[in-house]
Amino acid sequence: MTGTKEPSFRESVDLMFNRAASLMDLPPGLEEKIRVCNATYTVRFGVRLRGDIHTFTGYRSVHSEHMEPVKGGIRYAMAVNQDEVEALAALMTYKCALVETPFGGSKGGLRIDPRKYEEHELEQITRRFAYELAKRDLINPSQNVPAPDMGTGEREMAWMADQYARMNTTDINSRACVTGKPLNAGGIAGRVEATGRGIQYALREFFRNPEDIKAAGLSGTLDGKRVVVQGLGNVGYHAAKFLSEEDGSRIVGVIEWDGALYNPDGIDVESVRQWIVKHGGVKDYPDATHTAEGSSVLEADCDILVPAALEGVINLSNADRIKAPLIIEAANGPVTAGADEILRKKGTVIIPDMYANAGGVTVSYFEWVKNLSHIRFGRMQRRQEESRHELIISELERLDRYLGDAWSMSPDFKSKYLKGAGELELVRSGLDDTMRIAYQAMREVWHSRSDVDDLRTAAYIVAIDRVSKSYRAKGL
Ligand code: NAD
Repeated sequence: MTGTKEPSFRESVDLMFNRAASLMDLPPGLEEKIRVCNATYTVRFGVRLRGDIHTFTGYRSVHSEHMEPVKGGIRYAMAVNQDEVEALAALMTYKCALVETPFGGSKGGLRIDPRKYEEHELEQITRRFAYELAKRDLINPSQNVPAPDMGTGEREMAWMADQYARMNTTDINSRACVTGKPLNAGGIAGRVEATGRGIQYALREFFRNPEDIKAAGLSGTLDGKRVVVQGLGNVGYHAAKFLSEEDGSRIVGVIEWDGALYNPDGIDVESVRQWIVKHGGVKDYPDATHTAEGSSVLEADCDILVPAALEGVINLSNADRIKAPLIIEAANGPVTAGADEILRKKGTVIIPDMYANAGGVTVSYFEWVKNLSHIRFGRMQRRQEESRHELIISELERLDRYLGDAWSMSPDFKSKYLKGAGELELVRSGLDDTMRIAYQAMREVWHSRSDVDDLRTAAYIVAIDRVSKSYRAKGL
């Protein structure tokens, strides 16, 4: 792509789609059918607040119904618009196909600045929005299942689920109408951390493949790698926390809405998070240098760049100054199509959004299954597993006594081995498995085809191929 005009987010997604589709042998017409967004519903509704009627605009876009329900988050932000929800809905289609969650793609958004409203006002607005969507089956356990996204979380999902249940009093599966709910309202252990956890698992899988590490001009493991994170919200915070606390990575930069923090010796993620909770931003945080022009830190010298906030932040205006050899797209669409081309030519390796942030939808899938089965994962097996392990431990203890000083069990082996897997362990195991398998599917295309030189195109090829097979199985 040449010139300086940046395409819109949806055009950017379409350009990336077209690039991959041009390398595939799709039946005539099917390419367009997969690319286009099936439908976008726009709703304007009024809510009486503080004595006045306030009118809000919301969207729910359904990109592809090759599998149902369709799935995708609901975002609360002032920048929400039709182009954005359609781009995000399309990404959901490809993401679900790539990580093999049995859903079509959807996305929603409400144009609102949630920080301007009290909790009870947000509840009123959310319930009214949910009502508008649910009465058109745009929230429905078998047709359309929203989840959290920017500006929404467990609290909003609980309100939506409750609103749906009030409108569908005899639907035994009503809890499966949205995911990302709190545990006490039908949620699943590990959903809040899921997208950030998925970023960690994706990077671990990347670093298991020497050829891929070399392609990025890196070496070694995640240990000691210098990381810059943009957005310390749900996704960015968990990713940064796990990478620094469990993999030895050093978080050298944190970019937030009110500027960026930089410290080459490393930043304590938990303490910055607490600072943000207390002060609303990162400004004046004591143990790092603050830069008011936050986005300049995207260009800092580091090993791994994790954009985890907004779309389009790496674009034609800054792409050639990005130094990180490895970018993992925790946010949706942080790199525009034009920037993608510049970075690809520079040899930057990009782990694409549709794979990188799929941890959220993966664990949402587990939550949906849990809701439909009406039982917590692990409830039947855990103690049975533990009692079988007891048998082995008692035999080992007998051996230990028999062999005397010649052999003994490692000190923490017994407690570790005896502990049966609870829901959280099972969710993490399922997520890890999903992220590994999807990465392998992508890299297989990346390395086996001479006409594919990046992970994003490979990811699109895998996803489009699966969606097309699904359409063809339906007779299209
Ligand atoms: P969030 O609202 O929890 O966090 C967003 C963070 O970005 C906040 O800390 C906010 O202050 C910060 N931010 C806002 N404007 C900024 C700016 N100009 N510069 C830097 N930081 C800024 O949202 P989230 O759920 O973490 O989502 C972040 C991204 O991840 C979005 O692109 C979303 O679509 C994507 N995503 C989220 C999930 C999920 O499960 N939550 C799943 C998949 C993808």
